[in-house]
Formats: sequence, structure tokens, C-alpha cells
Amino acid sequence: MKIAVLSRNPKLYSTQRLVEAATARGHEVHVLDVLRCYMNITSLKPEVHYKGENLTGFDAVIPRIGASVTFYGTAVLRQFEMMNVYPLNESVAISRSRDKLRALQLLSRKGIGLPVTGFAHRPDDVEDLIKMVGGAPLVIKLLEGTQGIGVVLAETTSAAESVIEAFMGMKANILVQEFIKEAGGADIRCFVVGDKVVAAMKRQGKEGEFRSNLHRGGSANLIRITPEERSTAVRAARTMGLNVCGVDLLRSNHGPVVMEVNSSPGLEGIETATNKDIASMIIDFVEKNAKSGTTKTRGRG
Ligand code: ADP
Repeated sequence: MKIAVLSRNPKLYSTQRLVEAATARGHEVHVLDVLRCYMNITSLKPEVHYKGENLTGFDAVIPRIGASVTFYGTAVLRQFEMMNVYPLNESVAISRSRDKLRALQLLSRKGIGLPVTGFAHRPDDVEDLIKMVGGAPLVIKLLEGTQGIGVVLAETTSAAESVIEAFMGMKANILVQEFIKEAGGADIRCFVVGDKVVAAMKRQGKEGEFRSNLHRGGSANLIRITPEERSTAVRAARTMGLNVCGVDLLRSNHGPVVMEVNSSPGLEGIETATNKDIASMIIDFVEKNAKSGTTKTRGRG
């Protein structure tokens, strides 16, 4: 097969592993910087060009689109879909999961376990917002944050009020969430390929830190997940319409709750923690499913 990997940096661990696994199985792989792709939106004749070349003959495209380039990246992916190239994850599914509010609304509609969560932009009654999600302690998140930045634990109602008012002053969208204390500063990353959790790891925040992000000094270890956790992760992936994703869960005393569904999950942490060849599992999935014209949305919607 001829496979395109949409990635801004061919040196990234995840990109390298996917190229390695696909090449080892005899595929022709091209890494394309999504921001350098340009497109011809002529009626019924969609094209993607790259460095002067019209890209043709691709069987599959593996999107590894970073959060900062979601808008342009999903447009390029949509163009491939219109050209009948099979996308590992569809552009619509990526857009759904990148919008945290939309993602939580879709998950809640399917009855998937979630932390009690409120959204706000400029609430007139901050006290009522706090009461609505069960009162302090609370986690307040900036919607645009990643890697744990802009995630604040407010231990008391007055601290929560101050933080919410500060974020309101920045005109930012915020999310106010029940603090899952019993998670003990740990979360579980379930790596989903197709309709299976193929690997899972527990990330534990460093001493005294409630955020488990590896970028914040957390550590990752292999973990056995329960059948309920497994089915929650698979249902969350299916709700987003993602074939490959990382579902982040917290262990709460009302069962597993989904915090986030990541459409470009990194391979380094999970392959190291579990010693599994996840890159090959992804290529295997592409081989079994990449048929031209089978995309559900083919650029629609
Ligand atoms: P980001 O997307 O920036 O990583 P997250 O929403 O994933 O932000 O939060 C970062 C970390 O903070 C999570 O991995 C988790 O360990 C912790 N955390 C987030 N929300 C909650 C919560 N409601 N209760 C307990 N811990 C939380």
C-alpha cells in the first residue's frame, strides 16, 4: 500500500515508529507536513499538492495532527477523504474530539461515565455555577489548555470563585469539574485500536501533584483494567467515531469517568510502559480496513 503519514515532524517517536512498522510490512510510506500541503478545491476534482507534486495513488492516510493545527490539518485530511483515500481517523471525528465541550456533550448523550462538569463563559452567578457541580473542592480548566497547564484545583468555595473570576477576566471559556479525589493523582490511558483496548497504562502524578501529566513529572506503569473500564473506553472511542485514540479515565467511586479522548495519542509512553508494538497494531488495522470509498463521511459535514 501507499500510505501518507500527516505529521509536522518526521523525527517524532510516534511518526518514526509508524514509518518503521509500515516499511517493515512492505508498504511505501510518505511523511507529509500538513501545513505544507496545499489544495485545489475545484468542482469534483479534489487534489492535494506537496512541494510541487500532485499527490496521487495513496491508499491510506494516517493523521497525526497536533492540537495547534487542528483547523488546517482537518481541512487537508478532508481533502484526502474527498479523493477517496482511507483515513485512519476521519476529519469529522478528529474535530469532534478536539472540541472539549462538544466531546463531553456527545459522551454524556450516550450515558458514558463523566465527572460532573459545568461549562461557562461569563456566568452572572458564579456561586450557582459552583453549586451546580457539587461545590468545592473543584477542578477548573481553561478550555484551550494542554499538558495540564490551566488546570487548577480549588480547595474551597472562595478559592473557586476567585479562580473563575480571574479566568472570566481573561474572556476564556472554562470548564468546572467535580474533583475526583479518590483517583489519587493518577489517571488511566487506554489505547484503543478498532474496537479493542490494546494497551493501558496508569500515569501517576509526582508527590503532592493531582495532575498526572508525564510532562509535569508524572510516571507511567503497566496496569490491568477492569471490564467496565475497558467497555467505557471502547464506547467513548466509538461515540467520537475514532478508530485509533487514547481514552483518559479516572477511577472514581461512581465508576470509571472519561476525562478526554485524544485522537493523536503518543506512542512513546504507552509502548515503553507496556512493551507492546502498538505501531504494528495500527498498521495491521489500516491493512484490514483501508478500502477506497469506505469512509463514512467522505468530507461531508
Ligand atoms: P490536559 O488536557 O491539559 O492534560 P486534563 O484535563 O487532562 O488536562 O487534566 C490534567 C490532569 O489533571 C489529568 O491527567 C488528571 O490527572 C488531573 N485531573 C483533571 N481533571 C480532574 C478531576 N476532575 N479530578 C481529579 N483529577 C483531575
